[in-house]
Amino acid sequence: MVDLKPRDITFRIRQSTLELAVCLHRFNQHIVHKMPRPDTIYTVRGTAFHALAHKYVNYLVQTNQSSDHVYAESLTQDGAIFDTDAIALFREWHAKHLFQPDFIFGNEVRVLLDWDLNPAPPETPPRLAPFSGDLDRVEIDGTTGDIYDYKTSFAIFNPTTVQAYFYPWLLRRQFPHLRTIRFHLDFVRFNAMKHREFSVAEIDEREGDIILLTKRLFKALDDRVWPVIPNENCSNCTLECPLVKAGMTREAIGQIASYEQAVSMTQELYALENKATHFKAVLRNYVAENGPVEILHHRLGFKKKVKKKYPPGKIMVLNDKYGFEESRGLASDQKELNKIMRTYPEYVTELDAFAKDQSTTDFQFMPLDPTLESVALPPAVEEWKDD
Ligand code: SF4
Repeated sequence: MVDLKPRDITFRIRQSTLELAVCLHRFNQHIVHKMPRPDTIYTVRGTAFHALAHKYVNYLVQTNQSSDHVYAESLTQDGAIFDTDAIALFREWHAKHLFQPDFIFGNEVRVLLDWDLNPAPPETPPRLAPFSGDLDRVEIDGTTGDIYDYKTSFAIFNPTTVQAYFYPWLLRRQFPHLRTIRFHLDFVRFNAMKHREFSVAEIDEREGDIILLTKRLFKALDDRVWPVIPNENCSNCTLECPLVKAGMTREAIGQIASYEQAVSMTQELYALENKATHFKAVLRNYVAENGPVEILHHRLGFKKKVKKKYPPGKIMVLNDKYGFEESRGLASDQKELNKIMRTYPEYVTELDAFAKDQSTTDFQFMPLDPTLESVALPPAVEEWKDD
């Protein structure tokens, strides 16, 4: 039993709801007051790609085929989808994917959960089934469930967002017999996948995080207080930001209002990066001869770093002793040794006996007062109350 008090809400808690709610003001505007969010090139392309992919995979399941490129091509020409980028992505995607219809449980699988976190029938209203998600493709093989989410973005990222555990959690609640649930991000533009695997114990632990995030939203609803919180998603926020109204610049917040603004910021970044490279080179020489330069709370100078250097011969002897590949860790690298250390601490202890300290310097800004992490910034959070 979950201690969430049922309430008469008109919205559902979805992965996108929770992600939007990093800034509670934005959540209030778009989710509570249902202010529409204008379509962007990104959302139009994503919707078009998903429509094609869902139709295609549904057809493969109905006809029990792993691929049918003639049918796929016919979908791109039936006039229902106009977005040329989405069509090009779909062509690349279907040409490179084979499916296993026997394992496909469904496409666009809608999962709804009630206040006790039990599955609810489709179309149950939000006041009775507050949690929901639409999973692009679900495959089930015995006690293993696989969730695939299609991404048309121009960047590949790791499945570390709320979605990466929210969807597995919904599936776990819908199918309690599953023991392992894998979440896959399918980056269709790059023909690349990123995966994350969860045991049921891990998902159950994450359930607590979801409930906490939900309670935060309900507390804001109860208190009618909607803090404005700048975050990485400000770049695609189309609201009139209260912080801008209060005098902060859009750039300081990270809100990008148009493509033209993105171009102008990119030009500025290009110039700044070139300038920074040049400044670093000349200041490095200046500081090497004249000593650190101080500004406000920081000093620019050289900081000594001591690294352990391991003799390659000894690494090879130990690799042989521990049954590793002969060259493992030779690229020298502390990172690789740290990895080995996690599993075989005795390997590194033995190796440490032969290590020699090697001193280098890093050219960087250092706080004058080491307890001071950074100079004071304007307040990032303001309280915004409903009238
Ligand atoms: S731009 Fe302003 S309103 Fe929009 S998410 Fe960022 S802080 Fe919130």
